Amino acid sequence: MFEHQQNIWLESLQKQGYRITNPLKIIVEIMASSDVILNPTQVFLLAKEKNSNIGLVTIYRSMEKLEQAGLIGRVHMPDGCQSFFHASNGHQHLIICEQCGKAEYFEGDDLNPLFNRTGEQFGYQITDHWLQLFGFCQKCKEINLNRK
Ligand SMILES: [Zn+2]
Ligand SMILES: [Zn+2]
Repeated sequence: MFEHQQNIWLESLQKQGYRITNPLKIIVEIMASSDVILNPTQVFLLAKEKNSNIGLVTIYRSMEKLEQAGLIGRVHMPDGCQSFFHASNGHQHLIICEQCGKAEYFEGDDLNPLFNRTGEQFGYQITDHWLQLFGFCQKCKEINLNRK
């Protein structure tokens, strides 16, 4: 099922004029199938598990390419913005587990009245917003309960 996703990414990269190198292919494989957010160091370790000896610099460069191509997006965490997740499908927001990095997209803008009210209050014309939720996923909630 992930293979389908990978092929879509590779096609998109090709269409945008990127040369599909072996390292790029492996990084696409990792990022397109990940349900957790990943930083370049984590991708480096996962690539190693796949018996690939891609260097960290190549990983950084390839992830930049994927970001430029609109396939992955930078995720903002309280301790920095080093992690990436597959890009959203239109206007969506992320909910992220701060413990294991599991992430999901959700839709819905029940907060629009708040945004508009805030814009009016300060005399701004609101053109866009960015929203991300943090917490503990179902699994981590259970792990944390059992620890107590
Ligand atoms: Zn979790
Ligand atoms: Zn929104």
